[in-house]
Amino acid sequence: MQRKLEVQALHKAFGDVQALKNVSINLDAGNMLAVLGPSGCGKTTLLRSIAGFETPDSGTISIDGKMVFGPRTNVKPERRRIGYVPQDGVLFPHLSAAQNIGFGLPKAQRHHDRINNMLALVGMSGLGDRMPHELSGGQQQRIALARALAPSPSLVLMDEPFSALDAGLRAALRQDVKNSLDHIGATAIIVTHDQEEALSMADLVAVMRNGECVQVDDPISLYKRPADMDIARFVGEATILQAPVMGGTVHSPFGQLPLASNDFCDCHNAYVVVRPEQFIIGQPDNQICGQVVRTVFYGHDAMVCLKMDDKLGMDNIHVRVSGAQRFTPGDTVGLKIDGEVMAYAPPAVA
Ligand code: ATP
Repeated sequence: MQRKLEVQALHKAFGDVQALKNVSINLDAGNMLAVLGPSGCGKTTLLRSIAGFETPDSGTISIDGKMVFGPRTNVKPERRRIGYVPQDGVLFPHLSAAQNIGFGLPKAQRHHDRINNMLALVGMSGLGDRMPHELSGGQQQRIALARALAPSPSLVLMDEPFSALDAGLRAALRQDVKNSLDHIGATAIIVTHDQEEALSMADLVAVMRNGECVQVDDPISLYKRPADMDIARFVGEATILQAPVMGGTVHSPFGQLPLASNDFCDCHNAYVVVRPEQFIIGQPDNQICGQVVRTVFYGHDAMVCLKMDDKLGMDNIHVRVSGAQRFTPGDTVGLKIDGEVMAYAPPAVA
């Protein structure tokens, strides 16, 4: 099957800074990729390179099987048929919402029906005459998205499109954007700092670190089988236990735990990653016990911090429980682990 987007071995340096190191990504038509990583890891540079606003030092980029960047090839941004939503949306302040949407369309297509359809698509019917300063942050983001989608681009690139929005609006707009993209069958890349956004929206997530793409996977595999311990800690919360692994089983103080991946060699001191929702709190009899230090309530769920017995030599453990459960500081509770865990070799000592 022909891929919508193929990025192969992309390199880009700014002076001494290697912003992209050997980045390769394949994305099928209609899929959404989230690019996740800490500040400065190269996310925007990757997006701008695909859009044609940045010229990589080497590598290739193909869209619909046609090379747009490579040796002796560098197709201009406006000829790549890409919709680009830059960081913070940024509308033209002197143009109305409708004129902003029409801006990227060829003159012949700049008619009311087309623009009204785009306004409807992003849930903004009837607001086309508003100027940008008369729109809320979320409405401006929707217009920026409609402007990017109006020319029916073959690929939509969004650089932290929701970064300026509060949590409620962010979640609602995320779903609207996803619906809009699905509706027109667009292939998309979204750059985000927000792991929840990446895991909930995307078909594939690429994790970047220091200019490298360290893992590209579907959200469930990325969460359950992170390629290394740093990714495990970056994508979701993790408790790290030290325990021996023998014959594909972790021998932990919580009992024997199955491994999520079967390619791990025996190791007498492996680092084992356990997610907060894998810890199950129960009665203190016949189990490893901990003492409740505090509970942080998030509404839908809560995180309980437990201090473990000193002789276990463990840090405090964080356990995700339903928001309805109540624990009092000082309570003693039993603890077990449910499900498969990932293990990693101990980090090399320098
Ligand atoms: P953020 O999440 O903060 O937006 P990012 O992951 O998008 O960061 P990039 O903007 O791609 O990161 O930057 C990657 C690296 O390249 C950073 O070290 C940055 O300082 C550097 N960089 C980016 N653009 C330029 C430029 N035009 N000139 C010099 N250095 C640059």
